[in-house]
Amino acid sequence: MPMPLQPKPIEDAVVTARYPFLPQASAAMKVHMEANSVDLESLVDTEWLEAVRVRARVRLVESVVSKEGIDTTTTVDIHTPYGQMVECLSFLYAMVTVCASFDERLLARWAEGESSRADQLWGTIESETSFQRLAETYLSDIRIGENGYWEVPMTDFIEICPKISGAYWRLPNRPVRQGWVILSPASGENSQQRLSRLLKERIRTRLIEDCRKRMELMDEAFVGRMAEEVGRIVGLLKHQASTEVSFTSADEEDWPPCMREISTQLAQSVNVNHVGRVFLASISRVIGLTVDEAQAFFVNAPDYSAETTRYQLTHVYENEYTPAGCPKLQINACCPVSRGDVKSDLCNREWMDHPLKYLRARQRAKHRDEQQSAAP
Ligand code: SF4
Repeated sequence: MPMPLQPKPIEDAVVTARYPFLPQASAAMKVHMEANSVDLESLVDTEWLEAVRVRARVRLVESVVSKEGIDTTTTVDIHTPYGQMVECLSFLYAMVTVCASFDERLLARWAEGESSRADQLWGTIESETSFQRLAETYLSDIRIGENGYWEVPMTDFIEICPKISGAYWRLPNRPVRQGWVILSPASGENSQQRLSRLLKERIRTRLIEDCRKRMELMDEAFVGRMAEEVGRIVGLLKHQASTEVSFTSADEEDWPPCMREISTQLAQSVNVNHVGRVFLASISRVIGLTVDEAQAFFVNAPDYSAETTRYQLTHVYENEYTPAGCPKLQINACCPVSRGDVKSDLCNREWMDHPLKYLRARQRAKHRDEQQSAAP
C-alpha cells in the first residue's frame, strides 16, 4: 500500500520547521522563499543566508560522521519566523548539495541521518494526536487498538518490514487483528517508538526518491556553482570511509557465524549450496584472504575440483563480488542464527542486515578495547 498521495495538510510552522522532510513542509519552504525573495541560486552565496548554509552543513556533517543520525537538538529557535526559515531552508540546501554531488553513498548517509533524527524525535512526541497526524502522512491508515498500542494495516507492514532486521519485524511474530498489525512494546521501546522505527523506513525511502527525481532535473550551471560545497562534504565522506575500520586481516574470531558455519560445513564435506559458496568466496576477498587461502576452504567439498574451484574463485575476486546480505543468506538456509542453531547477540540486533556489519562491529569493539588497555 503506497503512502497517501495527498497527505493531510499540516500548517503549523513549528512542526514543518522541526520536520522539514515532511511532504507538507514544501509549501512552507515556498512561503519562506517567496517572503524573503530567496531562490536556489541565492541560497548558494547570498551573504545574509550564511546561517542557512551553516545549519545545512551541520545536518550533512552529522549524517556523515554520526551513526545516530543528525542531532535532534538545534540552537535555532524554531518558534520564531527567522528560525523556521533557517530550519526549512537548511534542509533544502543540504538536500540540493546531496543531489548536486550525484554520490549514492552521500545520498544514503544523508537519508539515513534525516530519517534517524525523525525516528528519535517522533518516538518521544507526547501528544498522541500530534504523533498520529505525522504518522498518517506515511501510512495508508493508523489506529490505536483496544490495548492502547498503535496498529497499522497489514499491507503497509508487509511492504516496510523486510527493510528492518530483527525477529520483531517478521509478520509471524506480530499479533494481527482483522488485518491490522499490532505494534506492541519490545526491546525497551514503547509502541510509539516501535511505530517510529517503522516510519523511519518510509521517510528514508521518500527522501531517496525525491533526491533521485531532483538529480534528473539538475542544471549543469547550478551543479557547477555547488562544486565547492559538494567537494567539502564528499571529501569528508571519503575521509570518514578511510578512517572506518578496515576489514582486512580480520581474525577468525571476528568472522560472522554464517561464514564460520559455511567453512566448517565444507571442511566436513557437507554439500554447501551455491549461495553459500559464492558468499564464502566473496567475503574471503573482502577480508583480504588470498585466492589460495580461499581455495583451502573448498578442498573437502564433496564435488571438489582444484581447477574448477580456482576458476570460480578467480572470477569472484576479479569481478569484486559483494557478499550477500543477511536476508538472502537466511532465505537460502546459510544463516545458522535464523535457523536457531547458533546464538549471537550481534546478529539479533535490529540493524544487523549484512555480515560485513557484523565484522565491522566486532573489529570496532576490539579496536576500542585495545585503545582502552593502552591508555595510561
Ligand atoms: S544474521 Fe547475518 S551476519 Fe549473522 S549469521 Fe545470519 S547471515 Fe550471518
